Amino acid sequence: MSGQVNVVVIGAGIGGLTAAALLQERGINTVVFEKNDYPGGSCASFSRNGYTFDAGASVFYGFSDNDRSGTLNLHTRIFRKLGVVVETVPDPVQIHYHLPKGFSIEASFDRQQFLASLAMRFPEEKDGIEKFYRELEDVYEILSSLPAGSLEDVAHLASVGGRYPLKTVMLALKTFRSMGKTARRYIRNEELLRFIDIESYSWAVQDALSTPLVNAGICLADRHHGGINYPLGGSGKIPEALCRGLEKFGGNVHYRSEVKEIVVENGEAKGVRLSNGEIVHAQAVITNATVWDTFNRMIPGSRYRVSEDRFLRAPSWFQMFLGIDARVIPAGFNVHHILVDDWKTYDSLGGTIYFSAPTILDPSLAPQGKHIIHAFVTSETTEWECHVRGSAAYRDAKQRYADSLISRTEKILPGLAEAVELKILATPQTHERYLHRHKGSYGALLKPGQNILQKPQNRTPVRNLFATGDSTFPGQGVIAVTYSGVSCASLVARKMGKPLEYL
Ligand SMILES: Cc1cc2nc3c(=O)[nH]c(=O)nc-3n(C[C@H](O)[C@H](O)[C@H](O)COP(=O)(O)OP(=O)(O)OC[C@H]3O[C@@H](n4cnc5c(N)ncnc54)[C@H](O)[C@@H]3O)c2cc1C
Repeated sequence: MSGQVNVVVIGAGIGGLTAAALLQERGINTVVFEKNDYPGGSCASFSRNGYTFDAGASVFYGFSDNDRSGTLNLHTRIFRKLGVVVETVPDPVQIHYHLPKGFSIEASFDRQQFLASLAMRFPEEKDGIEKFYRELEDVYEILSSLPAGSLEDVAHLASVGGRYPLKTVMLALKTFRSMGKTARRYIRNEELLRFIDIESYSWAVQDALSTPLVNAGICLADRHHGGINYPLGGSGKIPEALCRGLEKFGGNVHYRSEVKEIVVENGEAKGVRLSNGEIVHAQAVITNATVWDTFNRMIPGSRYRVSEDRFLRAPSWFQMFLGIDARVIPAGFNVHHILVDDWKTYDSLGGTIYFSAPTILDPSLAPQGKHIIHAFVTSETTEWECHVRGSAAYRDAKQRYADSLISRTEKILPGLAEAVELKILATPQTHERYLHRHKGSYGALLKPGQNILQKPQNRTPVRNLFATGDSTFPGQGVIAVTYSGVSCASLVARKMGKPLEYL
């Protein structure tokens, strides 16, 4: 398609689709270009041999039906606004941790149960545990009472600050604190501090000292309020619903449509050039690509280049999608697990195993009598570039790596190796290729000591070019990029004279 629209969105990830659907609902003519032939990026689903796998995300926040959950039940609010439905099932345990020295603990929906289990392992720290997790509750309570909007939108800040002056000041003060420093105010025990590190590593891929307290307040408190809810049919139901919402109001997604270039004239984005050479003009362009892919791949010339060391680049993943015989899963087995063999290497590449068995919540994702295991560890493209992709050596290296992961996982699922009936393996190269993510990275991270407000926001150095997704505030995770989509849409909508209603 050639021509002119109000807004072009590059990429149908959750960030891009959220922004597009909200803009279109306000009557702003929006078109999305996606290089793949399906929506969702790291939150897509894919099917093989009767199994439906989550390509990435499978722990979901933001689906609470409780209106007190404020901005933290964003999915519910957005789908209500768009008039589309995503059915979910509650997950009673966010993560079951299996840690060194036989330390096993479930982060349950029931907050008191979780705190009591922790205090049982660390009785001398009972008071410190209460105080530390209370700090997270405080952040949660402030955040959940403020409407979602852009930190760059002066009208939004003035309105929120005017209506909730005390809460706004308290939140602003808390943005300067890290989760790890806060923990050290109350807790001395080294093993407990390591546990708090793995709590932050579980989603931030950084230790607690490098993780802002505000982010922790969202993930580690909301699990006890809105809770964790899984979309029936798999992760891909979330982007599919956003597409339905977009289309319902007259917008659309063009698949197999890679944007090769953002057309910039005199420092202003004028539209995009697609891989087939077509140019689409727009009053605003929103990129859902990473900060490196946007500025180093899609904008010619060096003026806007982002150097490699501007942010910490999170590693990528080696992923294993297994179809297994159901007999290997014992009764009462939780859906999401994290496995650490040794604290010395938990944050090294491959050191921590994440795995999920979503079929425990939704058996329809696998043939009868089967389950899914999705397991993954951090990895880098450099670990795999010695092999030619598709070569026998590459395939063998993947199989060997997968076998070692399966054998480590047998610690909590004995007999897993014999139960595997389907095995699909993905390296960081796969991640890079499918999602156009620089080195397959999980995203840009703040450097230790940087404040959460130093994350890129939705405005960019190029006029009329806006950004959404995990390179922008607040960061990685489906609910976080949903927030960035909302704040990006609210900024663009106000600029176009049609401000969004608050969510
Ligand atoms: C293994 C793994 C497990 C995870 N687990 C969880 C979890 O349990 N819970 C959670 O909340 N989060 C989880 N996450 C993180 C979460 O999935 C991501 O943070 C989030 O989905 C990123 O969304 P996004 O919109 O920023 O970008 P992406 O998902 O990267 O989407 C960007 C889209 O843009 C497209 N695109 C890029 N460049 C172009 C171009 N030039 N032209 C056209 N299209 C383009 C891509 O194809 C892609 O579809 C996980 C991620 C991974 C990888």
